[in-house]
Amino acid sequence: MSPALLNGMNHDQLLALCGAAGVSPAHADRLRAAIFRHYGSDTDINNTPDLPLRLRSYLAEHTALLQPACTATSEGEDGTRKLLLAMADGREVETVLIPGNGRLTQCISTQVGCAVGCTFCLTATAGLTRNLTAAEMVAEVTAGQRISGRQVRNLVLMGMGEPLHNYDEVAHFVRLATDPKGMAFSPNRVTLSTSGLVPAMQRMIRDELPCNLAVSLNATTDAVRDTIMPINRKYPIAMLLDTVREYIRVRGNKRVLIEYVLLDGINDSQADAIRLCELMAGMGCTVNLLPFNAYPGLPFQRPADAAVSAFRAILVEAGIITVVRESKGRDIAAACGQLKTEVAQRRKASRITPAA
Ligand code: SAH
Ligand code: SF4
Repeated sequence: MSPALLNGMNHDQLLALCGAAGVSPAHADRLRAAIFRHYGSDTDINNTPDLPLRLRSYLAEHTALLQPACTATSEGEDGTRKLLLAMADGREVETVLIPGNGRLTQCISTQVGCAVGCTFCLTATAGLTRNLTAAEMVAEVTAGQRISGRQVRNLVLMGMGEPLHNYDEVAHFVRLATDPKGMAFSPNRVTLSTSGLVPAMQRMIRDELPCNLAVSLNATTDAVRDTIMPINRKYPIAMLLDTVREYIRVRGNKRVLIEYVLLDGINDSQADAIRLCELMAGMGCTVNLLPFNAYPGLPFQRPADAAVSAFRAILVEAGIITVVRESKGRDIAAACGQLKTEVAQRRKASRITPAA
């Protein structure tokens, strides 16, 4: 039997573990701190002070702690740090640490690759390799904290992958992250971004998943969205926005974030901006405009800064809170999938095999 993964355990499971090891339930708190909270130190449980020998030997025999190796990093001028993490099977995912206002935000990957196939996204090019487990997502957070030596304050599920294609593990992760007796993130500081999988969004509503919702809209007509986001052929814009409206209503007017990648000549015209205002009418959503982060081989261009400002001005004029989000660390190619692709190309060029 493979050992139980400590990273994926909630408080009740840690209590049960203490019971099985024959030690006081009070040790569950220390164990939790050792798993989730150590910054800038190694998370070897055996180095945790005050854990009884009995518990340590039980842990050694029956459990394991995932600690992904960091196989590549890059740091941007703005302090953004991108890490490539290798999971136990050697599969690599990106995670990004983004400083701002004294607080650290971490962008988490939920899958190795992605099956959605958006034509502007580098992660889409290799398709889906596999889902990540909740324990692996927790391990991304603890690796981020260990490597930065700081506590992460905000989590955004906006890295590689479509979170709602991996619903069960992502939901488990969100619950672990927001468990007051676990990692204790405020549900308002955890944001899940989806390309718009309507049935899974409805499940999110039913399950009252404790996090914010972000939706990648990226176009104002079905004709354009069909071509850049194939998922639109299944769940077109009207159906998607009806689901967003339902989420807002059921969650008591909770604000939803709408993401809109600006692609030169494709979806960035003034007519698009006006249509976006119409689509957003009465929804109270915040809009994040993401000027396309170009990468060789992707058949799109970033719009000129003037076009981005003109687009934003139309939304602001209509009373929509609109933020232009430069892909943080643009100088280090921080859009998702880029570090992984670059490292793969370098390894190919120098015939280095991927880290095991
Ligand atoms: N799969 C989820 C979350 C990961 S993608 C989703 O699509 O929402 C996170 C965000 O990055 C999405 O809004 C996506 O549209 C955007 N994105 C992807 N590639 C990009 C690029 N090259 N430049 C700018 N934004 C990009
Ligand atoms: Fe997948 Fe999101 Fe990239 Fe689309 S934008 S391919 S859903 S990761």
